[in-house]
Amino acid sequence: MSARAQVSKNGAVLLGDSVACDAFDPKRPLRIVTHAHADHLGGLKKSLRCCQKVLMTKATRDLAETLNETLKLQGSCVQTLEYGKTLKFAEEKITLSKADHILGAAQVLVEDEGGIRIAYTGDFRIDDTPVIESDVLVVEATYGSPSFRRNFDVDVRDLLVSMVERRLRGGAVYVFGYYGKLQEVMQLLRQADVTVPFVMPQRMYDVTKVCERHGMKLGGATLSTESDGHELLESNLPCVAFYHMNARSHAGLRNARITVSGWEFNNPCKQIGDREYLVALSDHSDFDGLIEYVKRSKAKQVITDNYRVSHGAVLAKEIHRRLGVSAIAMPQSAGQTTL
Ligand SMILES: [Zn+2]
Repeated sequence: MSARAQVSKNGAVLLGDSVACDAFDPKRPLRIVTHAHADHLGGLKKSLRCCQKVLMTKATRDLAETLNETLKLQGSCVQTLEYGKTLKFAEEKITLSKADHILGAAQVLVEDEGGIRIAYTGDFRIDDTPVIESDVLVVEATYGSPSFRRNFDVDVRDLLVSMVERRLRGGAVYVFGYYGKLQEVMQLLRQADVTVPFVMPQRMYDVTKVCERHGMKLGGATLSTESDGHELLESNLPCVAFYHMNARSHAGLRNARITVSGWEFNNPCKQIGDREYLVALSDHSDFDGLIEYVKRSKAKQVITDNYRVSHGAVLAKEIHRRLGVSAIAMPQSAGQTTL
């Protein structure tokens, strides 16, 4: 059964006979994109040329196009599939289901003709992700080491909202993070009745518009490059400015600044500068969440994705030790042994 799933050297998650997820594989006619983050779009242009079909949710298609100007997905061999709907491909059945990560993110289930269930989580946060029961499971391993645990006694979302609210009294508050997660922050703030304008540069604005089209309630957005947005920031009026992580070196240096990051485990909130804070908001499961998913999936064999992070080997060892389930990391790193 081991060959029913693998992770190739270039990061393609191979499921059953036909499917390659999240990177190009020359032997697989069906490419699936689990979500629009760059480390899951590997070789997509090649897949568009060489695969029979490229499958993803509608939201992932729209986000991927927005984030990559040179990608043309409409009118190509891309087929969109809703959560819970099944596609028959050769002798296999493919179903996408929700992954709580960014808008459009999906888990993949392949059922082969012998009835074996082969699943891949993609990136996920355990909170709102339905667990797929499977025989063979490929699981992400971003926080795959036991040191990556967030046992905070406060709700990080509530904390973030109250931090923003408090700092708005002093004018514009800058929030930094990745595409997708910042739109989650916008939604959290709107749900908490924060009504100030949200100001952002073009690319963030475009992503926000896609999220709104797909049902997220973000309460409108203002471009930082147009006069309204420019004026709000220049005059330091109460508003929240959303910038990509890469803009931290130059945006809002005179203002209150909050960075949302999953890579903080000791404190829900840490001061990292004069008026700058790190808030531990993640869109991935921590170590305990990964173990919990594997346990509830009832998988008999697990492969950890060791391509996108280097914690796959530790996670595989811990799955075997804690759950007694056979687990290996793929692709294997040098010196790694197979359980
Ligand atoms: Zn991701």
